[in-house]
Amino acid sequence: MLESHKEATVAERISNINSTSIGNWDWSRTPSGRAMDELTELNNLISSVSISNCPDSWKFSLDTSGTFTTSTMSNLINTLKYGVHSRNLSLPRNKYVPQKVFIFSWRVIQLKIPVRSELDKKGIDLHTILCPLCDHHIETIEHALVDCHKVSSIWTQLLDWWNQNNITISNINEAIISDQGFSHNSFGYSLWQATKWIACYIIRKQMNLKVFSCKVWNPAMVISEIQAQSFSWISNRSQKKAPIKWHQWLLNPSFYAASPPNRMGIG
Ligand SMILES: [Zn+2]
Repeated sequence: MLESHKEATVAERISNINSTSIGNWDWSRTPSGRAMDELTELNNLISSVSISNCPDSWKFSLDTSGTFTTSTMSNLINTLKYGVHSRNLSLPRNKYVPQKVFIFSWRVIQLKIPVRSELDKKGIDLHTILCPLCDHHIETIEHALVDCHKVSSIWTQLLDWWNQNNITISNINEAIISDQGFSHNSFGYSLWQATKWIACYIIRKQMNLKVFSCKVWNPAMVISEIQAQSFSWISNRSQKKAPIKWHQWLLNPSFYAASPPNRMGIG
């Protein structure tokens, strides 16, 4: 703060005399008080510094390359802040959803969705950490995608639509990974899982539209969008395996899950 020429280079301020570096200062006023203590400390630090002819540059001392990248910084913060609690779960691909839906689902199980409780943990100052839908519970990832009563009613209707009344969606695992209700790796399981991933994606998208674009949360519209979008994405990707018809998908999508494609004569 006391430097007269703010653009001065390090080389202009450090002179080397008899192998010892000393300060070649140009202060706007004579340092005094606490600034004198800081100057003494600075003089000690530079005494062993040797200056080369290279231009001045910044060096990121937390990485051996010396180069700052946001990913290195992000990893360091995560390791320090979350340590052993960081999750590293793998998620097998589901070929009936677009890449962006797969990445979103992967981020959900890694707990990397920027809900208010996660932003608060990272030290971001928010006026509230309550759920924007119910304004009553803390917005965690599980609350935002499954627990909130405004969201759980959507899941109840999706389970009805899929004729899956014996199973529940009450946590992230059941929404993203669990194969309850279907034999693992079956065609039906893939379709149901794709539908669940698309539902999570659209629930989050509609919640963001409510928060950032003041769009009204309308459960019937959310369900319609899940039905239409899941038909569009899944039918496009399953044409070879089983052509999916819109009226049948809307009526009872588990029809395709229950009927092995080869028995339908289209396998
Ligand atoms: Zn809520």
